[in-house]
Amino acid sequence: MQGNTHIVGGITASLAFAQISNDNPLVLVGAGVIGALLPDICHGGSKIGRKLPIISKMVNSLFGHRSFTHSLLFLFLMGMLLHTFIPYKSITIGILLGMASHVLLDMGTKKGVKLFFPVSISVRLPLTTKTGSKVEKVVFTLLTMLSVFFSYEIIVQLLATI
Ligand SMILES: [Zn+2]
Repeated sequence: MQGNTHIVGGITASLAFAQISNDNPLVLVGAGVIGALLPDICHGGSKIGRKLPIISKMVNSLFGHRSFTHSLLFLFLMGMLLHTFIPYKSITIGILLGMASHVLLDMGTKKGVKLFFPVSISVRLPLTTKTGSKVEKVVFTLLTMLSVFFSYEIIVQLLATI
């Protein structure tokens, strides 16, 4: 999936979680966007890959595209790392939500992801599409609508507390 779809995916996941938690929605969303871009560090042409070309090259030559950085193992390790070094729980949760949304969205592509890395099987959803396709645009639009809906819900909740 393309960077913008991942960004809106991270926003949707964070806002959905904000409905059921006391974490600050803005912190969740900010962290969610970062998390949503993080897994594509393995891909030099991605938004984050272009910002950090050296790390991106290293990760790509070590693991290839959509393997380690799109796996449950990476999610788990990042969770441990963030939990240890970042004292703000909301940031950790937001980043992990964004990463999980990224992996889920990429599972909706034909190539799938190496979810169980180092086991090298590709996992994909029953229905898949091509990156940049019309279907991806539909997914992008639906996620945007969901985000708007969740934002509305949060604003209503906030207003109720005043
Ligand atoms: Zn990806």
